[in-house]
Order: sequence, then structure tokens, then C-alpha cells
Amino acid sequence: MREVPFRQVPLAPYEQVLGERRTARLRVELGRTGRLLGDGAVWNVNSTAAGGGVAELLHTLGPLARAAGLNTRWLVVDGDPEFYTVAKRLVSMLYGIAGDGGALGAEERRHYRRAMDSNAEALAEYVRPGDVVIVHEAQPAGLIEAARALGASVVWRSHIGSDTPNRFTREGGAFVSPYVAQADATVFSTPAHVTGWAPRPQIIAPSIDPCGPKNMALSAGQVAAVLGATGILAGGHRPLTVPVPIGPDVEVRRPAQVLRDGPPPPADVPMVVQVSRWDRLKDMGGVMRAFVDSGVDGYLTLAGADLSGVTDDPEAAEVYERCRRAWEDLPPEHRRRCQLVCLPMADLRENAVVVNALQRHASVVVQKSLAEGFGLTATEAMWKARPLLAAAAGGLRDQVRDGETGLLLGDPADLAAAATGIRMLSTDRALAGRLGAAARRRVHDQYLPDRQLLDWARLIESLAGVRAA
Ligand code: UDP
Repeated sequence: MREVPFRQVPLAPYEQVLGERRTARLRVELGRTGRLLGDGAVWNVNSTAAGGGVAELLHTLGPLARAAGLNTRWLVVDGDPEFYTVAKRLVSMLYGIAGDGGALGAEERRHYRRAMDSNAEALAEYVRPGDVVIVHEAQPAGLIEAARALGASVVWRSHIGSDTPNRFTREGGAFVSPYVAQADATVFSTPAHVTGWAPRPQIIAPSIDPCGPKNMALSAGQVAAVLGATGILAGGHRPLTVPVPIGPDVEVRRPAQVLRDGPPPPADVPMVVQVSRWDRLKDMGGVMRAFVDSGVDGYLTLAGADLSGVTDDPEAAEVYERCRRAWEDLPPEHRRRCQLVCLPMADLRENAVVVNALQRHASVVVQKSLAEGFGLTATEAMWKARPLLAAAAGGLRDQVRDGETGLLLGDPADLAAAATGIRMLSTDRALAGRLGAAARRRVHDQYLPDRQLLDWARLIESLAGVRAA
């Protein structure tokens, strides 16, 4: 187990986005929660420092919580490859799929327990009585009991779930529920994912960081230069420096690994984009087929983290490989219009600037997840006022009001409907502009970090009350 240190960030850039009133409220309410905890800390525990929505949230929310007056810290669990295999299988099942097809039996539980026991020893070095421990996702749920034994209040924070419970969700639930049952409270991103076995469930929707490298404003010139520097667009691999409102400048210099036929696309070609981890549930292959079937002109970019960048995901290489084969099988005239991009993860802020530029450059953003926890990539695109086609899965349904803040694909597996959606957003620019503007307003009102931190502050105060009573 190791601690991931949070950067120090100033509040002033947030005030620019949130306004004076919202920023003052954040300071007052988080300051009060911080005082209630005294010397105590709020610990976040998860299974990776990089890649995916949870790491994304913690990197952005932790520093802001600290700046507003709440002592927040972050621990990442350790494990051997078998632990990550079992953990990934467990998460897949909670999403409602078989994952790698293996079992979650006595042998897997023993292995999982062993990994958790050694992490529990390390946890004792950090957590003190009166602290609050937020255990994110199923992977480290086995630490809940140990955290309680150390005298902390413990929240299990689930970021995922299944819209339609099935035998896999039941099997995953049976594995993890004895651990989760020990938590003082549980938090879900969307009401659709609350399970029967979760104690004191609450809903807290995630948020994005408007001042960090992924969602800060970029000029059109910066967007083209970033995508040129990485080789995603034509423009010649010249490194550049991009200033960030809340931290050091970011150097964009590492080329992305790009699979394509022919030269990089020029900046003036419309581009449909999906950014996701290489995970079967993100259905990158389905996006490629829907793009080809849509008959629209232009280019498709499917972008994900490079394959060594996400340590807790052993399936990424296989999913990428399947996508690569589907790309190779495309007729040449379509293969020339599609590229698969693996983004370097060596510097996460550089990675974030590239994702930012890709989303801003997109003429249409797609998030065709077959299942989804919340779908931060959608929130990110909406903040950038992009026309979005999202599948009606998990939290994407809360974010996207069909025909108002984007288009919602009723059946996430329906390729014909996905092709129609891509065509509508690519050809009806008035519709695309209207949806994009409304999407940005929705994120401003609902999915910025002050709202999420205030929700957490309320929950933490209620836990302190429970413990005091
Ligand atoms: N992401 C990234 N680089 C990549 C691919 C994804 O930074 O190469 C980020 C993406 O921008 C988003 C997060 O990973 O912030 C994914 O979160 P989401 O909720 O969409 O899905 P999850 O990966 O948690 O299933």
C-alpha cells in the first residue's frame, strides 16, 4: 500500500468558474467539516493511481478538498497479478458480465483475503481513531472491517453497477457483500445501481475539475498544436508547453501510438471521437462499425490509455487486440478514415491535456458503453459543449437528457441506432450546437466539484454524528 500525495492547488481559479457565492459556500461548509474532524483525516482507498474514472476523481477532488479546508488523503492498495485478476473479475460481474469467465469461489476468496490482510497491516500505519475512510469500488472492499477496527468511520463508495441485475451481479454481490456490510454507509453514483445489500445507501454524482489540464479552456490553436505534437493530427510533432490554471505548465512532447493507414488527418476534417479505457464494456469496436455504417464523411478516432498505463486492468491488451483486428478487417476506404490511438500515461497531466484537446477537436463525441458506472468522459465532453451520443447505461442516463443535452441511445447494443445518431449530430449542425450549449450548462449546474464536495461534507458530518452518539 502506498500514499499518493495530493498537489497543492489555489482556490482562485475555481472562483473564476464557480463564482464568488459558490466558492464561499464551499469554504464555509468544508471548513466546518474539517473542524469537526479535528486532527483527523478523510482517507480514500482504491486500487490504482492512474487510469479510469476513480483515479481521475481522486486526482482532482482531493487537492480541492484540501484547499477548501478538509484534510483529505489517498492510499492505493498493492496486490499480485492474481489479486488483480480476481478483482477485475469481481468488478466485471458487478457490471453484470462474466468478465474472463473464471469463478469467484473459495480459492479466489482465499487469495483475495490474503491480499487484503497484507494491505490491512499497512493501513494501520496511516489510519487513526476518528478518521473517515472511503473505500472506492469492490477491489479494496476487504479493507472495510480493518478500517473500522482502527476506529475509523467507513464508507464504501461504489462507482459502478448494473442496470439489470443478473446471475453475475448476484455472484459478484455474494462475494463482496459480507465486506461491504461492515461499512457505516455506502455511496452510489446513480439510483439505478443501489443494491439490496448496501447499508445506508446514498447517491452522490461524480464531478469534473474545470481548472485541471483535462477540462481547462484551450484555444483552437492550442488544440491543433497538441494534437499535432502527439501525431494524432497532421501538424508535425513539435513539442509545446501548455499553461494550467492550477499547477505547473504541462509539456506535451510524447507521441501517441497511433494505428492508421496513411498520413494523419488534417485539422479541418470533421472527427468523431470516443475516449475510453480499452475495456469490452466501452464497445470501441461497436463505435467503429456504427461510424462506418453512418456514411458520414470525416474521420474516427478511438483513443485509450496505452496498454502499460493502467495497472489494475489485465484485460486491456486483449480488448485492444480485438479492436485492432476489427480495424484490419475494414475495407481500405474505411480503414483510411479510422485510427486507434494509445495515449502515453507516463505523465498523467500530459495525458489529460491530450484528452482535453481530442474532446475539444471532436465534431461529435460518442460514449457507446454497454454498461457504465457514471461516464466521466461524457461529462468532460459536455463541459466542452460537444454534441454527444451516449448509450442509455448507468449514470449516462442521469447526465444526458435525450434531445436536450445530447442524444441517448436507448439500446446500447443497437448499432443501427448508433449510426443514425452519429449521422444526425454530424449533419444537423444547428441541433449539434443546441445540444452542446445545453450540455455545458448542465455540467455547470450539476457536475462541478463544489456540488460533490458539499454532498460528501454532509455525509461525513452525519457519520461523525453517528460515532458521537
Ligand atoms: N481517460 C484518460 N486517458 C485515457 C482514457 C481515459 O484520462 O487514455 C480518463 C477519461 O478522460 C475519464 C476517465 O479516464 O476521465 C474514465 O472515466 P469514466 O467514468 O468515463 O469510465 P471508467 O474508466 O471509470 O469506466
